[in-house]
Amino acid sequence: MTEGARLLVVHTWADLRPALRPGPRAVVMTMGALHQGHLDLVARAQQWRAAVGGQVVVTVFVNPLQFGPEEDFEAYPRTLEADVAALAGRGVDVVYAPSVVDLYPAGPPLVRLNPGPVGEVFEGAIRPGHFAGVLTVVHKLLGRTQPTVALFGQKDAQQLALVRQMVADLDLAVRIVAVPIRREADGLALSSRNRYLSAPQRTAALALPRAVAAGAAAAAAGAGVTTVRQAAWDALGNASSDGFETDYLEVVDPSDFTVLGQAWRGPALLIGAIRVGTTRLIDNAPLTITG
Ligand code: AMP
Repeated sequence: MTEGARLLVVHTWADLRPALRPGPRAVVMTMGALHQGHLDLVARAQQWRAAVGGQVVVTVFVNPLQFGPEEDFEAYPRTLEADVAALAGRGVDVVYAPSVVDLYPAGPPLVRLNPGPVGEVFEGAIRPGHFAGVLTVVHKLLGRTQPTVALFGQKDAQQLALVRQMVADLDLAVRIVAVPIRREADGLALSSRNRYLSAPQRTAALALPRAVAAGAAAAAAGAGVTTVRQAAWDALGNASSDGFETDYLEVVDPSDFTVLGQAWRGPALLIGAIRVGTTRLIDNAPLTITG
C-alpha cells in the first residue's frame, strides 16, 4: 500500500473524530487551492512526524467569516480533488474538508475571538473583521483536530503573530511552528490568488517582492530602519503608473506590528501589500536591524 492510499478524506466532524488516533498530531490549516507553499508546511509536518511519530492532518476550508462583503469568498478557487491528489504520498493521514454547515452548524457563530490591537492595523485595518474570522476558525479547527503542533506560513506574518498571541493569551496547548515563504523563481510569493493575475499584472506584481528584497538587503548591509524603509519604497517604483496601488510598506515589530523608529536595533519585519487590479498581494521579510 502506498502512502497516498492511506490518505483518508473526511468532510464532517463526526467522521473526523474516529480518524484521530491517540498520540501526537501535526495540523496544517489551509483554504485549499494548494501550491508548493502549502506543501512546504506539509513537508515540515511530515519531518516532525518522522521525529516524534503520530499523525498529520490537513484541513481544507474556505472560511466565510474571514472574507469581507466585497471580497472573493464565492470566487475563491475550490479544487479539492486536485488538492487531495497533491497531498497523496506526502505522509498525510487525514484531510478534513468540512462544509460551512459542518463547521458552523448553527449559522455564523455569535461568540468570536477578539484579536485585540494587532488585529486592527495593516491587514486588519484594510480588512475589518478579517482576523476575528481567522482566529475564530483557527480556534475551532484546533479544537476539532486536537494537534500537538500547528504549522503556519511566514507569508501571512500578521496572521501568524495573532495565532501565537491567541495561543499564549488563551493558554492553548499547541506548539505553533512557522514555515518560511515559498517564492516563484522570479521572487513572487506563492499564493492561491496569483491565478487571478493576467500576464501584465503578474509582471506588475513583482514590484512587491523586489521592494521587500531591497529592504532586506539594506538591513543586511547594516542600514537603520529609516534607510531600510526608503530602500524598499525606492525599489517599489512608481505605483499607479506601473499598474498597482500600494496599501502599505513598513518596518514593524514582528510581535505586535507597531511601526519601528530609527533608534530600533534588533528583530524587525518589513511588510508590504499592494493591489494589482482587484487582486491584493502581501509579502514580508524578517530583518535584523543592526545599524
Ligand atoms: P491559505 O490557504 O492561504 O489560508 O494558507 C494556508 C497556510 O499556508 C497559511 O499558514 C499560509 O501562511 C501558508 N502559506 C500560503 N502561501 C504560502 C507561501 N507562499 N509560503 C509559505 N507558506 C504559505
